[in-house]
Amino acid sequence: MKTPSVLHLDIDAFFAAVEEALEPALRGKPLIVGGLAHERGVVCTASYAARRFGVHSGMALRTAARKCPQAVFRRGSYHLYRRISNRFFACLRRFSPRVEEVSVDEAYVDLGGSRYLAPSVYELAARVKAEAEREIGLRISAGLGCTRLGAKLACEAAKPGGLFRLHDEEEFMAQLTLDRIPGVGPQTHFVLQGLGVRRGRELKIKYPAMWRKVFAGQYAGGMERGLPEPASRSLSRETTFPHDIRDEGLLRSHLAYLLERLAAQLLRDRLFAGRVEVKARFSDFSTFTRRAALPFPTFSYFHLWQAAQPLLCSLLAKRDLPLRLVGAKVEDLQAGRDILPFFSLRDEKMTAAIAGVKERFGFSSLRNARSMLLEELYPVEREGMVLKTASLTK
Ligand SMILES: [Mg+2]
Repeated sequence: MKTPSVLHLDIDAFFAAVEEALEPALRGKPLIVGGLAHERGVVCTASYAARRFGVHSGMALRTAARKCPQAVFRRGSYHLYRRISNRFFACLRRFSPRVEEVSVDEAYVDLGGSRYLAPSVYELAARVKAEAEREIGLRISAGLGCTRLGAKLACEAAKPGGLFRLHDEEEFMAQLTLDRIPGVGPQTHFVLQGLGVRRGRELKIKYPAMWRKVFAGQYAGGMERGLPEPASRSLSRETTFPHDIRDEGLLRSHLAYLLERLAAQLLRDRLFAGRVEVKARFSDFSTFTRRAALPFPTFSYFHLWQAAQPLLCSLLAKRDLPLRLVGAKVEDLQAGRDILPFFSLRDEKMTAAIAGVKERFGFSSLRNARSMLLEELYPVEREGMVLKTASLTK
């Protein structure tokens, strides 16, 4: 049997835990981060105490306030979360060169090549978890598995704060109800329920072909050699406005700012994007997206903007309503590129130079004229503007 060597780590109720560390009186109380109770937008993180009332991330703030009226609401300290997150990942990289960041508070670490640092991989995993917890002062859940899927499931089972190891992932998944098995989407779930299938085991026995298909992606080779290349990763940022916005200039400003943050992140992670997507949600909650291929894989803000701006225009034409949310996403990310786009180097050099200045003097030290209008709406801090709901996830 293979030795589990993929470690998945997840900081427990990350944003809420940071707020509790800043304000110890909040400890143990239902705490919701993402905005104030009467504000628009969604819950970013709910503390475990708040989760007991049925509050979860992604829920509208007002719904959360109804479910848990005694909860304490905080807007969030996003720049601080980012700094802690960076320390978390830096700590993991001391144990293995193969660290994959999934979101601000989640990572996969391949311990395959580092196993001689401790008597067993399990002990090494325990050390990584303990070191990371000491480094950031927050509790972390961890799971050890043979695949990323196995490690993630083990981590889910270990919450809060534990370390679990899965030896036989298929057996473990056979016991789970279908809704807990990653890879079974809502549609498949619905169909299978109609067929009377509730758990993995029933699926495995009654419909072996579908069982294999569900896991094909996760079980198909590559794990022996460590983590596979991040497949079709994407980075996205979106924001809900304090009030619905109709002014096109102001909407373009928001888009420019989100793209600028994405470009900075691409550059920092040394990634090139092949495609850009823009998302718009109107005041009636109807939501549309438009995507376009970039002329070549790039991290340049200027090229992202050139491709994204017409997308926003065409989205605005869909409805004669103001917008409540705008978002941007870069996709088809790759770590390198084959062709060197000779004529575009100037734009990339400019993006990189601007990023260098911002790195040294703070994100707000050089500001994009296109997003200046936003300064009327949001406070400007050293590390950027504080948007209503800053999306920090992947
Ligand atoms: Mg977490």
